[in-house]
Formats: sequence, C-alpha cells, structure tokens
Amino acid sequence: MSESCFRLDTDSVLGRLLRSTRSISPGEIVLSEEPIVTWVNPRKGPAGSKNYISAFCDLDATQQASVQDMHCPTSVSKAYRGAAEALHKELSPAISICDIQNLLAIAESNSHEFFGGAPVQGSEPRAALFVIGSKVNHSCRPNLRYTSQNCQGRLTYKAIRPIAEGDELTFSYLPDVFASMTDERRAFLRREKDFECGCERCDAPDWIRPLPCAADACKGYVFKHGGGGGWRCQTCGGGGAAADALGLERGFYQKSNFFCDLARPDVVGALALAHETGKKLGYTHYLTIRNLKTISDGVARVMQTLKPENQREAAQVVAIGAFALITRAALMERVAGGCVAPKGLVCGCGHGEVYECANDVFLGGLYLGKLGARQRPRELVEVVGRYLGLMELIDLSEKDVRGITQMVREAREARAGCCDYCGGAGKEGGGLLQCGRCQRAHYCTKECQVGAWKKARAGQVAELPHKAYCMR
Ligand SMILES: [Zn+2]
Ligand SMILES: [Zn+2]
Ligand SMILES: [Zn+2]
Ligand SMILES: [Zn+2]
Ligand SMILES: [Zn+2]
Repeated sequence: MSESCFRLDTDSVLGRLLRSTRSISPGEIVLSEEPIVTWVNPRKGPAGSKNYISAFCDLDATQQASVQDMHCPTSVSKAYRGAAEALHKELSPAISICDIQNLLAIAESNSHEFFGGAPVQGSEPRAALFVIGSKVNHSCRPNLRYTSQNCQGRLTYKAIRPIAEGDELTFSYLPDVFASMTDERRAFLRREKDFECGCERCDAPDWIRPLPCAADACKGYVFKHGGGGGWRCQTCGGGGAAADALGLERGFYQKSNFFCDLARPDVVGALALAHETGKKLGYTHYLTIRNLKTISDGVARVMQTLKPENQREAAQVVAIGAFALITRAALMERVAGGCVAPKGLVCGCGHGEVYECANDVFLGGLYLGKLGARQRPRELVEVVGRYLGLMELIDLSEKDVRGITQMVREAREARAGCCDYCGGAGKEGGGLLQCGRCQRAHYCTKECQVGAWKKARAGQVAELPHKAYCMR
C-alpha cells in the first residue's frame, strides 16, 4: 500500500464505512494492517470466548477503547448475557458483565478468521480484530477480498474488481457468494451476523433462481425481485411462476440433497442430474450450480479410491471433474453479470471473468492437466485460458499456475488444425471448415460438423455436443 486510497465515512443507514478516494485496479492492495488483538478460537465450545476476553484484558487502555468503539449489535449483545455472567465468574476480570456482553457481540460482528503467517494446516483456528479492517462492510457482490495468509501476521484487503472513486469498499462474509440465492444469503446473514443485507445484489432480481414463466405460450423465465417485488418475467413482463415450478424446484432440491449425502459418490448420476436441472429450471439456477459442486467434491473422493490400473476410469472421472468445475465457474460468471438467459450452458453475452470463479477454474485446470493434450475439451481450455490473469491475483501456488499456463498452450497446439469431432487434419490442402456461429469450432467435413452438433466426440465422457457450447 503506497498511500491510503480510502477514507472513513458515515452513512445514515449503513453506519461507518470505508470509501475509495481514487479509482483502484484489481490486484491492488487497498489495506494492510496488524491485528489489535488475536486469540485461539476453537470451532466448538466456549474456549474461544474465554481466550478472547483474557486477551482483551491484557491490552492497554487505548487499545481497549479502540476495540470497544467497534460496531456492537445490541440484540446480539443481549443474547450473550448468560455467557458473560459465566465468564465473569470464571475469570473475575477488571471489567463488568455488561462489558463482556458487548465485547462478545463485537467479536461476533467484527472478527476475522486469522492465519497470521503461521502454517495453516494443523494449527489451531485463530480469530482477530482489526481497527480499520473491521469497518469494511459486507456485500454479496464485493470489491475486495480479505486474507491473512502468506503475509506475516497482517491482514490484507486486495481489490478484486475495478473500483471507482467514491465507491464503498466491501468484502463478502459468505464463502461461495455467487452460488447462493438471495433468500439463502439474507437468512444466513440475519442468523450469523444479525443484519439484513441491502446490497445492490440483494435488491436486484435474483439471477441465480430462474423459474419457468406462468404466462401462456411464454418461454421466458421469472425472477424474484428484491425488496418484496415478487416474481416477474424478463420476457413478457408478467408476474408469477408456472403453477408447478416451485414444486419442480423442491423436487430437484431433494434430489440434489440425495447426491450430497451419498457415501460413495456417483459422479455420472450427479452429472445427469445437473443437466436435467439445467434443462428444467435453467442452467444458471443455483441448484444446477450446486449439483456441479457435488460432482467436483465426488470426483475428488473417487480419485482417492482408484487404483493405478484403473487408468481409463480415472481419465473419465478427471474429465468429469474438469467439466463440472469449469462449467460451474462459467455459470457463476453469468450470475455475477446479471445474465437473464438461463437456457443452455452458454449464453452468448460474453461475460467478463469474475474473481470468485478463479479458484474453480484453477482446480478444473489441474484436472485438465491430467488428461492428454488432445483429450482436453477445447471449450474448457479456452475458459481456463481467459482466467490465467486472475489466477495470479489470488494466493495460488505459482508453480501450479505455471503448469496450467503450459497445459493451455499444449492443448491449443495439439488441437490446432485438427477437426473438433474426429480429430483428423482435414482434406489435403483444403483446410478446415469453421463453425459460422461461434467461429471457434473447426471440422474436416460437413458430416463431422453435423455429427458434432448433436453428439460429443466418441469416448469423451465429459464433453458435450457442440450445440451446448456454441457461442454467438
Ligand atoms: Zn446482499
Ligand atoms: Zn413470461
Ligand atoms: Zn449472458
Ligand atoms: Zn472430422
Ligand atoms: Zn459453434
């Protein structure tokens, strides 16, 4: 951080917040700060609270005042009465029960998970409070990311999208923010953080939950509009979901839970379910996105059980994993961009890369690297290629990112001049035919082009017909 690029501001509704004082580019470190207090915070039991109150009592008066000045939600504070009494009895500190109550509410509302440069694996979870960092508010479309890893005990906030002068600086309290619908995010924030999220995304139509429109002959989708706006169709403007749409959604929800709970993952079954959900509800529906996550989790577990002699099966499973992760990222990209076209895997609006998707693309890229260069689906390789820049922005292993860059180059070279269906090099001297719609796919003959439109390449389990990928 060369110079401060934000100022403290007060908003009548949001309270204290930070605003940028100039435009900020993705990747810039906006804030780097030492914690004012840290403590060992086991996930279960009251030990974390005890460590925290003891650590607070060890601070000097100025530091204590800074902590006590942080945002303290009163309703949360009330709920801590019992816990505060017990702690007061056990520790007999120099502060009152009421102080302890408020301190517990302050920690709930402001603390961060803290790695502090210590090795992440095997170390006990820690938490920390930051004087400036704690004033960054939540948004479901954040412009900063927070990390305390790899930075010698400091917290850093890095910009993850372009920030204009005067924008509020925000980060997300939710881990997988573009995979959950508005009702779900709001319920979580109400329950865990005690506030009603009014961010721009919560106020907009919920793009991650399309349902078929109720109007006769309308093939459009309805979206639930924020602030009690109800369900409205993006195509005909009418209101209301088709009579059985919510029932259909509930059914898919139960089926997806079934796959989540399976002890032995059935990744092929889950892939079929993801496609069915996409076709019936919409590919950008959160349940489609959730099913793709189930697949990638399942793939990781299946890989651990496979023996070295099962090479063919391993290649199939890896290909499915790559497809699930990269497709999921591409769908979340559409959600982030407010895409109103839930039909099909590809929408054709050409959305930009989104930081929150970079990790999935990265993991998908690692899977693609396990396949032969010619086996890597061209469409997936191209998504990975677009994300190489963003991968450098997050704290991924540089060696892995270099490997993925190399993988993309190899795949492009191996498939250059080859038919996307049969792999052939085309008629001598005749060159390849190009798909007129997307201008990306190449075929040796008309027959191959027609074949590829409705059928994936033979033996390529995780590939889809070109129809699904073809982008205008
Ligand atoms: Zn929100
Ligand atoms: Zn409609
Ligand atoms: Zn789109
Ligand atoms: Zn061909
Ligand atoms: Zn095409």
